Amino acid sequence: MGSGPRVFRIPMRTRFRGQTAREGVLIEGPAGWGEFSPFPEYGPRESARWLACAREAAFDGWPEPVRSRVPVNATVPAVGPEQAHEIVRRSGCGTAKVKVAERGQSFADDLARVEAVRDALGPSGKLRVDANGAWEVSAAVRHLKELDAFDLEYAEQPCATLEELAEVRRAVEVPIAADESIRRAEDPLKVRAAEAADIAVVKVQPLGGVRAALRVVEACGLPAVVSSAVETSVGLAAGVALAACLPSLPYACGLGTMSLLSGDVASPSLAPVDGFLPVLRPAVDFSLLSEFEIESPSWLRRMREADL
Ligand SMILES: [Mg+2]
Repeated sequence: MGSGPRVFRIPMRTRFRGQTAREGVLIEGPAGWGEFSPFPEYGPRESARWLACAREAAFDGWPEPVRSRVPVNATVPAVGPEQAHEIVRRSGCGTAKVKVAERGQSFADDLARVEAVRDALGPSGKLRVDANGAWEVSAAVRHLKELDAFDLEYAEQPCATLEELAEVRRAVEVPIAADESIRRAEDPLKVRAAEAADIAVVKVQPLGGVRAALRVVEACGLPAVVSSAVETSVGLAAGVALAACLPSLPYACGLGTMSLLSGDVASPSLAPVDGFLPVLRPAVDFSLLSEFEIESPSWLRRMREADL
């Protein structure tokens, strides 16, 4: 069947999780291509779910979509206000997610960035912030109240733990979304039980694929925002498939991340147009792959070891 596993390494335009490139393995099966790209620090047990996602894509395909396109947000990294304004204006997205609480920056930097993004979006745009768990409870409460002057849609992971999220959630009017708190299938239920969040950010690879993620969202009962793990268009397609088959999709998804990579391995590339991604199935384009393909026995070993 088709080609054997292919390993890729694509440089990123900005550092992400301390990495300068995104790597992974592409596998082909009767249903199409799948991507296996667990982050470097994940061992076999954790990576097994990422592999299940790649296999579902390659061998089983995905449930029928109920929508033909998926709204996505623009992502604004910890840049200055002019650049933030420009990113949002160029994106064509009606929703922007702004990184806050970046190490080495001050709250004044966050405030200036959020103000610039609100200006770029206009009053009807949706603006969410993401602190990646970096704030203490008291800082989160203080900062979110102040940032809400720019009308926040929600705040993603203001603090690290469920207890802290619940405390912040009780103290502010801004809805709280859990992201880093959701990495395993049982996590959304814990988030719900702790009353720690209003919204669940879900990613298909760590949850073990589209069907597994769908079950998690159903069991948890919170509205879901489907986000990427910064995959190529092959991996993004699985996230799009989940967003496309969720019965309700009240928020724009974090799947517009193709621009974080310096290139792609598949076509058509899943880059948003006017704030939406089409629901379709890109295939590996070998002329694109040739630029990023690497020899990597260690990746093939990682994939074998994840096959539990
Ligand atoms: Mg996040």
